[in-house]
Parts: sequence; structure tokens; C-alpha cells
Amino acid sequence: MTKKIAVLPGDGIGPEIVAQAVKVLQAMPELNIEMEEAAIGGAGYDTAGDPLPEATLKLARAADAVLLGAVGGPQYDKLDRPLRPERGLLRIRKELNLFANLRPALLYPELAESSSLKPEVVSGLDIMIVRELTGDVYFGQPRGIEVRNGERVGFNTMIYAESEVRRVARVAFDIAMKRGKKLCSVEKANVLECSELWKEVVLEVSKDYPEVELSHMYVDNAAMQLVKWPKQFDVIVTGNIFGDILSDQASMLSGSIGMLPSASLDQNNKGMYEPIHGSAPDIAGKNIANPLATILSAAMMLRYTFGDEANAKRIEAAVRKVLADGIRTADIYTAGTKKVSCSEMGDAVVAALKA
Ligand code: NAD
Repeated sequence: MTKKIAVLPGDGIGPEIVAQAVKVLQAMPELNIEMEEAAIGGAGYDTAGDPLPEATLKLARAADAVLLGAVGGPQYDKLDRPLRPERGLLRIRKELNLFANLRPALLYPELAESSSLKPEVVSGLDIMIVRELTGDVYFGQPRGIEVRNGERVGFNTMIYAESEVRRVARVAFDIAMKRGKKLCSVEKANVLECSELWKEVVLEVSKDYPEVELSHMYVDNAAMQLVKWPKQFDVIVTGNIFGDILSDQASMLSGSIGMLPSASLDQNNKGMYEPIHGSAPDIAGKNIANPLATILSAAMMLRYTFGDEANAKRIEAAVRKVLADGIRTADIYTAGTKKVSCSEMGDAVVAALKA
């Protein structure tokens, strides 16, 4: 059966990096993939006056998976909030019910020098952070800014229903079962009732996974442990705001932001796949961005939406070979390696795939 992918390049370096991932997928005709492009973010606003145009949402709904570049740019910063590029991203996640965000933090041995931590602390690092993506203080009501007692107050609501915690906990336990069978649930149950419930529900779900070693950690301690001894973690599961911060922190353990893919899944493993970085306006249009995070996102798509572990591994092995051959984009370049452009990096991965 043909697999349908909605391709949403977005803004800034989005089109450049997505073109490389598309090239890699096209180099594997046996995948039987059909791709169709649509605008999102600033590009959506420019073409349809909406960061998530109706046609884009329709295409994404009809597709089996979505491949996204990045959104945003300084030219859109003055727009009303609902029209800003980032709103398009939040809306598509919510509309497609993509509640589980998978962010691996993995250090390729060839890039151990790019990490700001000592090589012995990070080499061989392989963590998966599962972040809840559609709830928490980012979506909770009430929210707003209003005048109370003669001064302005800003307020948001941290809220989780047990069903929301249960479904993301299941995703995390399932992933832990396929990896090192260790899961750490991160919250702030010593202070927040919302976290207290989170912990209780995770404990309930754990009864269905007796083989997984479950631990609990407060988010402030987790932030410390991630830089102190990150290799103690296998899978981490946490809420939206804690996960936002911890996954960015974990990404830095592995050197470049240009290397890390992500997946956001719904109940049926339909997913949106995107690099963790933004639209990098400072280097957009120069053909120097690192496309590997986007190419590795395509590999995650094969693994999680299409259940095609073999071809996911083929792409990952091709990326590893390119790095082992000393081919680097500017962001991961070190003396003695070969600096290439964004499109040349895409070509190198395709060549490694075919080798
Ligand atoms: P950013 O991730 O775009 O860039 C941070 C730094 O990393 C920049 O110096 C950039 O050049 C570099 N960088 C990022 N990706 C790279 C790549 N693939 N190769 C080489 N270098 C890379 O974050 P920012 O500068 O804070 O934000 C820029 C815009 O992106 C903003 O409008 C922001 O809102 C948006 N943003 C979008 C997403 C998303 O689409 N998911 C995520 C974060 C930020």
C-alpha cells in the first residue's frame, strides 16, 4: 500500500533541510511513499493569512504521517499571537491529537568532542525523553493577563486529567520495554497537586509493566542529574513544560542541535516528525544548515508510524557512515574533517544508503 506523507517545510532553513530528507526517502523507492507539500507557519500566513491553513490541516489529516521542517522568523514576531508561526505548530499538534513527543538524545561517538561535557560523561549516551505534548500549563484554562487589585497579573493553569497521564505513560512504558527497561517519571510532586496525580497514575500504569524498573524524580533534580551523570537514564517520561526544558537541555549533551530528530504520536501511531531545532533565520537561504536531524526524523517515521525498523536502521546507518567518513556541515565541523553544504550532506547520505 502507498504511504502518504504530508511534507510541511515551513520557514527559514525548513525548506532546505526538508528537501534533503525528501531526497533520502525518494532514494528508497521500495518504501512506496507518496509525498505532497503544503505551507505552515510564516509560509502559511504569507500564502493564506493563517499559520495553519485549512488546506494544510486537511492534507495532514489525510496523510499517514507528517514531515515538518521548522517555523518562525523575525518578520512574524509583531503579528497578533494567533497569527504567529508557532501557533500553527501548537494547533496542528492539538488538531492531530499528537500527545506523545519522543525526543532521543544520542551521542554519535564521532561527535563526542562537540559536547560541552567531558567525553567520558557523554560518550555512548542514548536517552529517550517522552514528553506529553497536548496538555499541562501550555493549554490549561483559565489563562490570561488581567487587572486585579489595581495591578496586572498574569496567570496560567497547570492541569492534567488522569486519562492524559495514562496514555503518555503507556507510550513511555512500551518504549522502555523495547530499550533498557528503565523508566524515570519526572514531576514536582513535593509542591504541585498536578504532579501528585501524575505520579499516582504512572504508578498505576506500572502494574501492567512488571519488567520495567520505574523510578520517580523531581524536575529540579532531573535537571542536575542530566548534566551530572546522564547515562543513568534510559527512558524519561514527563509533562509538557518540564519536558520542553529537559529535552532541550538533553539535546545539548549531544553537541549540535542540528543532529536531533523528534516524533510526535497520536493513539494510533500516526505521527509528525521534525527536527528539534527552529528555523535558524541567521543561516537561512545559505545552504549551510545541518539536515541530519530532519533525515533522522524521517528514519523515526519509518520506525514509529510504518513499523519499518529495517529501513529506519538503514537511514541511521547511512548517517553514521557519513559521520565516520568525516563529512560535516559547518555546525559540527572540526579540524581535519570535510566541510560540506546542506545539499551535499543530503547527497552524501543518499550515496551511503546506496553503497
Ligand atoms: P533555532 O533552533 O532556530 O536556532 C538556534 C541556533 O542554532 C542558531 O544559531 C541556528 O543557526 C542554529 N541551528 C539551528 N538549527 C540548525 C541546523 N539544522 N544546522 C545548523 N545550525 C542550526 O532557535 P532560535 O534561534 O531560538 O529560533 C529561531 C526561530 O525558530 C524563532 O522564530 C523560533 O520561534 C522558531 N522555533 C521554531 C521551532 C519549531 O519549528 N519547532 C523550534 C524552536 C524555535
